Amino acid sequence: FSKANGGNNFHFFDQKMDNQGHDYLNLINDLRQAIKKQEFFLTYQPKVDLTNKKIIGAEALIRWQHPKKGVIYPDQFIPEAEKSGLINEIGEWVIKQACLACKDWITAGFKDFTVAVNVSSQQFKQDNIYQVVKTALNNAKLAGKHLELEMTESLLVENSHELKKLLQDISLLGVHLSIDDFGTGYSNLSYLKEFDIKTLKIDRSFVNDVENNGKNKALVKAIIQMAKGLELTTVGEGVENQQVAELLSDFTCDYGQGYLWSKPVRDKDFIKFIHSYAKPS
Ligand code: C2E
Ligand code: MG
Ligand code: MG
Ligand code: MG
Repeated sequence: FSKANGGNNFHFFDQKMDNQGHDYLNLINDLRQAIKKQEFFLTYQPKVDLTNKKIIGAEALIRWQHPKKGVIYPDQFIPEAEKSGLINEIGEWVIKQACLACKDWITAGFKDFTVAVNVSSQQFKQDNIYQVVKTALNNAKLAGKHLELEMTESLLVENSHELKKLLQDISLLGVHLSIDDFGTGYSNLSYLKEFDIKTLKIDRSFVNDVENNGKNKALVKAIIQMAKGLELTTVGEGVENQQVAELLSDFTCDYGQGYLWSKPVRDKDFIKFIHSYAKPS
């Protein structure tokens, strides 16, 4: 009995692996098409100053308008784009578009606004990322200080001279570097003094229920204190209600981002959105 069963199981497993390979290849083909046909669009989620509740800028979040499957969220395709290397091309497009959008906001009168872009670790490993950033800024006639690059802790595990030099060069353009999802990754914090990091974005898994969860409250408070000591600014991610915003503010967190203020807004609607936010009825 065990033989037959084992055989079946093995066969089944084999087939499943095969299907997964197929799905992956289909997705990669679709992604290639998506790049060619420009099926991606950006949404922007405002970042708010917790002391005066003013919008100071926004984070660009990519979406894919798939011809058959509708809108696809980044968690469903960014990992595959990273694995296949297509992230470099997609990411270059994101940086370029985000810089152009920020220039539009500035032209519309929001002169201090910044735009934050998520950059995958792979993108920092391609040899031309510095040039990509510089070209995007020049193309949009945008000063570097209006652009922020969000990276994850996993990138900084290496602590290589090359990476340090690269991030230093990018910082010299005036571009801000921040750590996304802070607290969920690498636990050796020495990188915080090694690299030119300006901001910690505290992961939403700590922030979301901070008002009811004593342990998360302690963690969030400690992260903000540590950041202050290192002269880093802090952003609370995933703020969904007023109590959380007030608590973050009490802990002297600088900025907040989350559904409390707005879900990500489609690129073409964002200027309308910030105008209406600036003049609440
Ligand atoms: P992230 O950079 O940590 O972005 C924050 C995510 O949390 C976004 O999900 C946002 O829509 C969501 N969010 C914001 N406020 C709230 C809230 O109050 N409650 C809850 N439950 N969620 C909130 P999204 O847009 O699905 O993006 C997921 C991840 O995909 C991003 O996480 C980022 O890591 C990645 N990503 C997005 N755009 C890009 C991109 O252009 N390039 C790369 N490489 N990665 C991207
Ligand atoms: Mg982010
Ligand atoms: Mg995040
Ligand atoms: Mg994330």
